[in-house]
Amino acid sequence: MSEIYEEFYAKLSDLKQTKALLSWDERVTMPNGAVEERSQTQATISSLIHEKLTSDKMKNYIEKLNKESTKSDLNPEQKANVREATREFERAYKVPDELVEEISETVSLSRSAWVKAKEKDDFQEFLPWLEKLLDLEKEAAEHIGYENEPYDAFLDEHEPGMVTKKLEEIFNSLRENLIPIVEKIIQTNDEPSNIFEGKDFSPEKQEALSKELANNLEFNFKQGRLDTSEHPFTVGMRKDARITNRYNQKNLHSIFSAIHETGHALYNQNIPSDIAKKPIGKPPSTSYSESQSRLWENQIGRSKPFIEYIYPKIKNRFPQLKNIKPLEFYRSINRVKPTPIRVNADEATYNLHILLRFEIEIGIFRDEIEPEEIPQIWQEKMDKYLGLRPESPAEGVLQDVHWSVGQFGYFPSYTLGNLYSAQIFETVKDQFQDLEEKIKNGNFKPIKDWLTQNIYQHGRKYRAGKLTKKVTGEKLNEKYFINYLKDRYYPIYGLD
Ligand code: MG
Repeated sequence: MSEIYEEFYAKLSDLKQTKALLSWDERVTMPNGAVEERSQTQATISSLIHEKLTSDKMKNYIEKLNKESTKSDLNPEQKANVREATREFERAYKVPDELVEEISETVSLSRSAWVKAKEKDDFQEFLPWLEKLLDLEKEAAEHIGYENEPYDAFLDEHEPGMVTKKLEEIFNSLRENLIPIVEKIIQTNDEPSNIFEGKDFSPEKQEALSKELANNLEFNFKQGRLDTSEHPFTVGMRKDARITNRYNQKNLHSIFSAIHETGHALYNQNIPSDIAKKPIGKPPSTSYSESQSRLWENQIGRSKPFIEYIYPKIKNRFPQLKNIKPLEFYRSINRVKPTPIRVNADEATYNLHILLRFEIEIGIFRDEIEPEEIPQIWQEKMDKYLGLRPESPAEGVLQDVHWSVGQFGYFPSYTLGNLYSAQIFETVKDQFQDLEEKIKNGNFKPIKDWLTQNIYQHGRKYRAGKLTKKVTGEKLNEKYFINYLKDRYYPIYGLD
């Protein structure tokens, strides 16, 4: 790639970092009174990014780069940069500016309508906004283009290279295998006790534990911070990684959100400097980033050896757990309990929440479902998959922010992340004979180094599908996740 284009793209990348840092600030330290002013500042930065991305200069670069890339003298990394730059440019360039603007104005109104509708527990109040956003997004999909059906255009935004048909196959097989597992577990009626019940855990001590954990998991605090926010999140910058956590006095769930966000940050912190500001300077997809947060949180963090490692640290800080054995703690943090709320769901039932949303989304984009029918369909599917019916729209269709801000096609990334994480972890297990020992002793560096070597250092050089094949020797296969669930949860519930 020509140096002059690299310079141009690095500036674009700086603008994106500015936007990310401002949104971090908005959620972590910004005074309440600054909301309106900040949204103007953010809108300005967003339009600067869009202008630069769709400028004539960019267009000329892309045309030139694509001509060059047909020549054989570009190496695979340069070719990947051209591929990603072209993709980003085209997605932005093909949607007319007026439509981009209309969507962004509608999103901000729709989001506040959603907040009110959720408060009032009234889907009808949100419905016209949902309908309007869907119309606009469908229009955008026609401009962007798609392989087989409009939903492909949304999926491609988060999961480059993935198409609806392929995803549907994977998810169908997942659903078929998952429902009987969840049913079997629930039918045991053998629910581990909730060891947090009736106890209090100081947020300050939880925060100190989160920091110690992130540090032990090789999060680099010289180039990163951990702060507090309403919902945990990560903003990715190689030399300035920001993670956040929240602390509920009633339990120690913050341990697992700390590990989750650290997993995201480990990915970002280990993308090499020389590609960080290039088009490939990020994970291959949303789900790939999520696969690493979940690998650290679930495959490692909720395992027996990890609990053995961390439990002395927990007991030291929280003597109220002094009579609880590590095994009881392990069972308690791996409870399977259906809930109508996605973000409260355990690992076994979580993906059923995503499947439900995915099926509704493709139904809408295939014109098989009308938005007004969603609450009814939601109830029926919830009943079928989890044996429960949400009491109200606030506990059902209105619970997530995604649709109110036009994020269609995003939910599948969560489940894909789980599937990738299980498959990748199988390979990690093959690499280290003494993996459990390492985890038990808190020796995480070799694991992080292996993941860096095989995954993080490549950034977006490979698409998710290709990287998975390269790392695990096989294309994405949902059976690894299914087997992982059985291996973890059947013994806890006395099943075989
Ligand atoms: Mg995440």
